[in-house]
Amino acid sequence: MTTSIKKEALEQWSRQDSADLYGVDNWGCGYFDINAKGELAVTPFGNAKGSVSLLDVVKGIQERGMDMPVLLRISNILESRIKLLHSSFQKAIKEAGYQGVYKGVFPIKVNQQQQVIEDIAKFGLEYHHGFEAGSKAELIAALGTMKDREACLVCNGYKDEEFIDLALYANKLGLKCFLVIEMLSELDVIAERSKVLGIKPRIGVRIKLSSRATGNWTESGGDRSVFGLNTSEIIWVVDKLRDLGLLDCLQLLHYHIGSQIPNIRDIRAGVQEASRVYVGLVEEGAKMGYLDLGGGLAVDYDGSHTNYHHSRNYTIDEYCVDIVETVGETLSAKGISHPTLITESGRATIAYFSVLLFNILEATKFEPAELPAELPEDANDMTKELLNIYNTINTRNLQEFFHDAIYYRDELRILFRNGRITLRERGLVEGLFWHIMVAVNRHVQKMKYVPDEFEGLDRVLADTYYANFSVFQSLPDSWAIKQIFPIMPIHRLLERPTREGILSDITCDCDGKIEQFVDLHDVRHTLPLHDLHDNEEYYLGAFLVGAYQETLGDLHNLLGDTNVVSITIDPVDGHFEFVKEIEGDSVGDVLSYVEYDPKLLRDSFKRKAERAVREHLITPAERREIMEAFENGINGYTYFER
Ligand SMILES: *Cc1c(COP(=O)(O)O)cnc(C)c1O
Repeated sequence: MTTSIKKEALEQWSRQDSADLYGVDNWGCGYFDINAKGELAVTPFGNAKGSVSLLDVVKGIQERGMDMPVLLRISNILESRIKLLHSSFQKAIKEAGYQGVYKGVFPIKVNQQQQVIEDIAKFGLEYHHGFEAGSKAELIAALGTMKDREACLVCNGYKDEEFIDLALYANKLGLKCFLVIEMLSELDVIAERSKVLGIKPRIGVRIKLSSRATGNWTESGGDRSVFGLNTSEIIWVVDKLRDLGLLDCLQLLHYHIGSQIPNIRDIRAGVQEASRVYVGLVEEGAKMGYLDLGGGLAVDYDGSHTNYHHSRNYTIDEYCVDIVETVGETLSAKGISHPTLITESGRATIAYFSVLLFNILEATKFEPAELPAELPEDANDMTKELLNIYNTINTRNLQEFFHDAIYYRDELRILFRNGRITLRERGLVEGLFWHIMVAVNRHVQKMKYVPDEFEGLDRVLADTYYANFSVFQSLPDSWAIKQIFPIMPIHRLLERPTREGILSDITCDCDGKIEQFVDLHDVRHTLPLHDLHDNEEYYLGAFLVGAYQETLGDLHNLLGDTNVVSITIDPVDGHFEFVKEIEGDSVGDVLSYVEYDPKLLRDSFKRKAERAVREHLITPAERREIMEAFENGINGYTYFER
């Protein structure tokens, strides 16, 4: 009898190991932590007190009769983000002796859902946090929600007469509503409608800065931007307003050099240039008073704190200090009073607030066939070579043996086609080859510098975990622009994950998968995951999904909106409450979005069933059962239901 215990069993795996592996402390911004039970917890107050296990939330959701996937919103996090933005600006303003104030606005396009907009209005009240609207519908959402007259409402985008009238009426009601001119033609309409309605407009101009930001989302800024005016057009606007006697209405300068700006240098260059334009407008005689620096404050999705496009090389504090100091110094030098600062931070305000929770339906493992104890006597010499490679491969001969293995495998395939080796031997060859690749990959994973030819090997050898959600519906940017979101299991975090996998969603689209995961250096192509247990669900979360994902998502394969659940955590006792539940789309809902009438479908199916009764294919009682199944299908969730 042997008394030796396998080495792996002795190896401890702690919550810190999991935290390091998945980078929670890097991307979580203090809002997520692994608890003593090895479960991922939400910690909106940054301490253990208000810590809520996501697994407990999942159980609570299921007890209330809702299935995965679920989009979870944690309202305390939104509150914390708004507070953080304002306190950072206030601190910077105080330290720099800046004479103006800061007032944020939330760009509605980043998350338009009613509950979200209402929460922002509520949490923003004490800071006079307003909204930015880019279309009529967004303006109407803002007008219906805003109560705070001290907050700003900034109108960007294409504006027709109806849009302009609404904004003018908003001013009449006492709201601070700015019409930002993006195109010259808008000025005539604004001047005319303001005359007709007898309401003085608050006018802003959007400038195309020549400062450009690098990154994934920054095409919307810079000289080539479709939005905004260049400097000669701005001067034209000033002259025209002067002629119309409306120069006192020009109060705001706006720019937006792009979303997710990873490099603080680009932010500084933008503020610098805009401050100079502001000076120029004041010198031209415009009333001014507001400087709106747009969005761009980035989220550190991969936690690397670098100028990589999924990250940012600055903190919110640095962002605020740079803005406040630059504006203050540029204007003081010209003796111009400091304006109210506005930023339109969307992503940074809302990303942390939502988590997509989903279960894994099954996993297919990459596992090469088991090798026999020894090769047959009559095996081909090249097959023997492959075995030799398998037995002797090491870090030093890795590249050479990797090439040899591919060469022998290909030669042996040719021999098979020519009838020189048997099907059984070919099977053996393929098995040996994959065992060698697994060994190669083990060595590659330890390398600091990975030669190009090994790129992607980890992906080929990964397991596939089938995840109960749709990338197109819930993480559209992951598909469309290869954005990376942190993804990790929300439990079993005291266990070493033994598998490496990619995620495949339940659409039948080969793009419906995730093969890029966060890593401090570059990106990972596989995600460490646990072996699935029988009769036990395995839950994962995709994090930082609050910005842009909900409305950009689409109905690919007719997978609809997921269930949405909002919780609020009590900071004193750590209890959480389900404050809002919104059921996701039913099959009937999504069919009606693509112009079907579920009632007509039901009638037509019923006629088929009746014909089958007439033809004695089914009994009337069976018809009832079949119709019930059809009915349940129409009323059911579009995702996999256990
Ligand atoms: C999209 C957009 C924003 C939001 O940008 P974030 O990077 O999400 O903060 C702000 N302002 C304008 C004009 C926009 O188009």
